[in-house]
Amino acid sequence: MTLSARLSAIDERIADAARRAGRDPGEITRIVVTKFHPASLVRELHELGVTDVGENRQQEMTAKRAALEGLDVRWHFIGQAQTNKAASIRRDADVVHSVDRAKLADALHRADADGHPLDVLVQVNLTEDAARGGSALSDAEGLAEHVLALPSLRLRGVMAVAPLDEEPSRAFARLRDVADRIRALAPEAAWISAGMTGDFEAAIDAGATHLRIGSAITGPRPDRG
Ligand SMILES: *Cc1c(COP(=O)(O)O)cnc(C)c1O
Repeated sequence: MTLSARLSAIDERIADAARRAGRDPGEITRIVVTKFHPASLVRELHELGVTDVGENRQQEMTAKRAALEGLDVRWHFIGQAQTNKAASIRRDADVVHSVDRAKLADALHRADADGHPLDVLVQVNLTEDAARGGSALSDAEGLAEHVLALPSLRLRGVMAVAPLDEEPSRAFARLRDVADRIRALAPEAAWISAGMTGDFEAAIDAGATHLRIGSAITGPRPDRG
């Protein structure tokens, strides 16, 4: 299958899953995760109408953005972020999905260089394993309140990755709960970033507004190098 055929096939599955869930497919943003692929793939995707791409490493995002200067796509940063990379992430990302601790939120806020607010999501860890990315479920509202107090950050909602050892729909139900509580604090924080190649239909069912789909569209990832 060509890239174009894989993209259309996934978009059809997204639309079908949305309809089954009684949702408007138009309210769902499909982010194509391009990590480990060359910048040229982002350009091809853009030619196919893709407007949103995801990267999980700051240096790779920075390099691709520079190589594609001026290309009209939104860059979503979805990886674990080191505090000392906050300035580069802020400069090169349009949305940061992976704010998982107050220190990172503070660093992103301090890195504001142009007064333009940065869209951020609080990443929630749906596993019991603290080494996985994300704030503990019980800390997520507190972190959201912390972000809301930083004027250069605009809290848009929550993000999570489903655990490997659990039915995704059960895990996404917990995400939905915390998303609802955070939206009660801040009505504009209504985004739910969830759903990857293996579980995006369950995420749509659970209310995801932003899907992060990689390999089903791009094909297998090349070596990390
Ligand atoms: C790589 C990645 C994805 C996409 O994964 P696929 O299984 O290839 O769709 C989504 N979210 C995050 C955080 C990732 O790192």
